[in-house]
Formats: sequence, C-alpha cells, structure tokens
Amino acid sequence: MQTINADVIAITPLTEIIYKVTLKPATAAKFEAGHYLQLVLGEKDKRAFSIASKPSQQNELELHIGASAADAYASQALEHLRQAHLNNRPVALEVGLGVSQLRIDCQRPIVLLAGGTGFSYVKSMADHLSEVGCTQPVYFYWGVKEESALYAKTEMEAWAATKENFHFIPVVENPNEGWGGHTGYVHQAVMTDISSLETYSIYMAGRFDMIGIVRDDFIKHGAVREHMYADAFAFIK
Ligand SMILES: Cc1cc2nc3c(=O)[nH]c(=O)nc-3n(C[C@H](O)[C@H](O)[C@H](O)COP(=O)(O)OP(=O)(O)OC[C@H]3O[C@@H](n4cnc5c(N)ncnc54)[C@H](O)[C@@H]3O)c2cc1C
Repeated sequence: MQTINADVIAITPLTEIIYKVTLKPATAAKFEAGHYLQLVLGEKDKRAFSIASKPSQQNELELHIGASAADAYASQALEHLRQAHLNNRPVALEVGLGVSQLRIDCQRPIVLLAGGTGFSYVKSMADHLSEVGCTQPVYFYWGVKEESALYAKTEMEAWAATKENFHFIPVVENPNEGWGGHTGYVHQAVMTDISSLETYSIYMAGRFDMIGIVRDDFIKHGAVREHMYADAFAFIK
C-alpha cells in the first residue's frame, strides 16, 4: 500500500448522480488492475473507491463515484474532492488496496461482472487485458437499472471491437421500449448465455447484497469459488 497526495484535476458528471474524478498523484501511483484506493477524509475515516484507470497510466487516476443524495458515504467523499478542487488543495490517498486484482494466466476464460458503478473495478481490467495480449475469451457484463446509466456503452463497444476475444454485454434491469439487449439482473444474463461457469475466472463488483446472491447462484451454476474474485467478499458472510 502506498500513501500519496494527489491534485483533483476534474470532476465531470457521467450521469445525474455518477461523477468521473480525475486525480494527478504527486508521485507515480503503484497498483494492479482491479485494485482500489482509499480517499482519506480523516485519520479514521477512509472511503474506498475502485481505480477505473489502467496500471500503465500511473500519473493520472480515474474514479467513478455514484453519489446519490441518499448515499452519504459517497456524497461526503465527493464533497471532500470538490472542496479540494475549488481550493487548489491536494487530497490524501492510500493506493493499491484489495485482494481481487486481475490474475493474468492467459488460460481460463474470464467473466468481468459489474453492477452499476462496479463498472469502475472491471474497466481497469478490461483496459489492462487489451494491453497484455492474452487471447482467451473475455466477457464484460455491465448491469444497470436504467439504460441512461450505461454512460460508457460506446467506449466499451469500441473496446470489444478491438479484438475478436473481447465481448461487451450491457444488461438493463428496467428497460424502455426499444431496448434490444438482455434485461433483468446482470448475473442472470451471464447464466443464460454460459451453460456452466466451471472453467471461468470471474471478477465482480456491485452492491454487497448483489455480490452475495451472485456468488451463491454462480456456484450453483458450476463456478469454482477459488476462481471468483470480489473485494465485497470481505464485507459479507
Ligand atoms: C472495495 C470497494 C470499492 C468500491 N468502489 C466504488 C466505486 O468505485 N464507486 C462507487 O460509487 N462505489 C464504490 N463502492 C461502493 C459500492 O460498491 C457501490 O455503492 C455499489 O456498487 C453501487 O451500486 P449501484 O448503486 O451503482 O448499483 P445499482 O444501480 O443498484 O444496481 C446495478 C445492477 O446491479 C445488479 N443488482 C443490484 N442489486 C442486485 C441484487 N440484489 N441481486 C442481483 N443483482 C443486483 C442489477 O443488475 C442492477 O441493475 C465500493 C465499495 C467497496 C467495498
């Protein structure tokens, strides 16, 4: 774990409640794809956010923060970042945290599963996988409640177009008329498309209640617990 200061370069809305935060660390940030950082608000108040950027981009970090009015954890963190940006003051970060970073074996097919802002966690891995040149199939599933929350759909479709083994599958829980893709819970879409998860490495991020349900359903669907990764496992039973 590395403790560094960083300047807040920009805070840009991605949707009505999700913001992209761009940070410039004072020294090169060391992390692996799938790691998270903690934004230090106080000595005992540190807020975890996945690093959306890829490890090769050590001099600029990207976060995606979903800060609805009801979510004090994220809104207070965002306000801390806003104040730092306004006052030209650095923020303190602890970088390179977590145990669910990408394992590169170039063998097992991979499912990257994101619920909502869990997108940030798997985006770093998707970009890193584009760089390393492994050829096993990679399926990136991104589930959101409404289609308007698919703020990076075009970018991800472009990612999937770069290599034959990459696949991007957006899933909308409550679709409008005209949506032609998967509907419902994102992990249900995975189980519809893939008959057994036995041979897969699975990386997932989303709400804690979601991750518990997905873990149990995926194991019933053949997934091997040792090949399932989520930092949320540390917070749930
Ligand atoms: C280590 C760590 C890192 C974190 N990083 C971030 C971060 O970078 N940014 C951030 O904003 N928060 C982060 N959090 C907090 C938390 O992960 C998010 O608040 C959470 O993922 C937000 O989900 P959402 O509201 O976007 O999903 P929602 O919009 O509620 O759900 C999106 C989709 O998830 C699926 N889903 C949701 N609930 C269920 C369920 N019960 N059963 C099955 N499927 C379900 C559905 O497909 C749904 O459409 C982090 C937490 C930890 C511990």
